[in-house]
Amino acid sequence: MRHDPERDAAAYLAGELGALRRLWFERHMLDCRHCWAEATTARQGRMLAESLRVVAPPSTRERIRGVAELDTEPQRRRWPYLLLAGAVAVLIAVALAMVPRLTETQPAPLVAAAELQSADALPLGQEPGPPLARIGAYVWRGTAQEELGEIPATVYSYADPDGRRVLVIASARPFPRAVAAQDLEPAPSWLAEVDGASMLCADKNGTSWLAVATDEATALSVGRALELT
Ligand SMILES: [Zn+2]
Repeated sequence: MRHDPERDAAAYLAGELGALRRLWFERHMLDCRHCWAEATTARQGRMLAESLRVVAPPSTRERIRGVAELDTEPQRRRWPYLLLAGAVAVLIAVALAMVPRLTETQPAPLVAAAELQSADALPLGQEPGPPLARIGAYVWRGTAQEELGEIPATVYSYADPDGRRVLVIASARPFPRAVAAQDLEPAPSWLAEVDGASMLCADKNGTSWLAVATDEATALSVGRALELT
């Protein structure tokens, strides 16, 4: 999406942005100095205007003007605090908006799969045999039965000569979709980054498959080798 600092910030502060555009703008503002500055300035301006209205409502304007002419010092001293309060309010609003993203976690079965991928050793057996004996430089080293979250799964472990590991995981139950996953053909296949591991997920003949690799290219090549995508 393109940015338009002045209009976006004004619409954001006025609450006129749609939900998606609002989310986008909040995230974008963290990286874009122009939009951030525009929102901060606009927010401070609005707070100043509002505080002016509070300080001098029409009904008491004359009385306050009279007081202000006698002694304007107390009001002048308030401006820096109001500006500071405005800046702090913006920071708090942005921080609160970030909280759900920071705590947004991947589904437990996928987190468990990522942990397996980086585990020191897996309890491997020879049964059942793998869907493929080798995938490129990766050779099947054994099979483990694991519970990933609530999902019982068969984990085929592959390693290349450098000891890099690829897991091919099969289950009769579908794996949950990763947060921020990217769609692949055929639907509902997806590709995602989960806790440092690259995952490709696809369904085939009633089995849900999850390929877990150190990088996206490897995950994709496993998907192709298994004819999942
Ligand atoms: Zn921007």
